[in-house]
Amino acid sequence: MTSRELQNAVGKVTGMIKVLVPKDSNDAKVKYVCPMCLKGKDTVEEWKKPFSVKCGFCGHNMKLPKLLAQFKKEKKVQQAKNG
Ligand SMILES: [Zn+2]
Repeated sequence: MTSRELQNAVGKVTGMIKVLVPKDSNDAKVKYVCPMCLKGKDTVEEWKKPFSVKCGFCGHNMKLPKLLAQFKKEKKVQQAKNG
């Protein structure tokens, strides 16, 4: 399970995306809040890299570049803040 904040065009974090890929599956269960139109949805997409999800409301393409690397980094930063 991974979770990312999404920035809109002006660099504000207004959306988020969570992706869950079961180990024996190519389906990614996605829950997102679009950073552009602020609408949210649960959906199932085919898991592929690079992974991206198109907003079902406004068509904004939400990409997850270097997802795991960045996720690890963010986790480290959070731990540094907490500790
Ligand atoms: Zn949207």
